[in-house]
Amino acid sequence: MRETREKKYYRIRAWLFWLLAGGMILLILGAYFKDELYEKWLKSGGMEDITYEGKSRLEDTAECYLCGNSDNSLVGYYRKFDTIGLISLNDWYVLDFRLSCQDENGYERNTEDGTSSTYGNTGEIIYSSESNFHGTMASVEVTLPDDYELKMETLEEHLCQPCLDKVLESLEFRKWKHEKKGAVPLCLVDFKTLEIYSLQDWHRGCLIRDYWVEIEPEGNEITVDAYAIPQ
Ligand SMILES: [Zn+2]
Repeated sequence: MRETREKKYYRIRAWLFWLLAGGMILLILGAYFKDELYEKWLKSGGMEDITYEGKSRLEDTAECYLCGNSDNSLVGYYRKFDTIGLISLNDWYVLDFRLSCQDENGYERNTEDGTSSTYGNTGEIIYSSESNFHGTMASVEVTLPDDYELKMETLEEHLCQPCLDKVLESLEFRKWKHEKKGAVPLCLVDFKTLEIYSLQDWHRGCLIRDYWVEIEPEGNEITVDAYAIPQ
């Protein structure tokens, strides 16, 4: 016995048919140009400058993590040397660039033989640092967590007002208005002058006293190379 299958037809109003066909084409075009459309939308609002303001809640300014002598900050220790460092602001972890330098008495700080390298995980950042034989070049690489976010309270609690202003000023950056982006919770410090330098993603390098610094951000990873300029 042969089965004959009847073909089915739907009656549909012409305007509805064209509406559906048009919608389909728009969907396909949308999927095809998704990235371009997103980019257009992102830039449609223009750019904006993000700045930070904070009010210090530190009562005893002698305990300031930057200019004071708090036992919880390594800045006080490194201040003896005329070198530079990197600060993870969320947990105030201070990394020293292992450059050859002199301490307050003019003595050359011990530089180990060969290259030296250290690495670690502070819970906030993963870092590794390396320096060459003569201590003329050092490199620090920091990886931030995917969802990093600046913890303003830490800074307000442990910095005096002038230091807080200085650190917050270094966090300024520009972004598209529709873009979801926050400040990178890192900065560079000159241990001798206590000047703070930006590590935001627009900053590619600068001269810090006797050191030339190059910054290379890539996603959540930031590499900072520092070179001692021969006197
Ligand atoms: Zn201070």
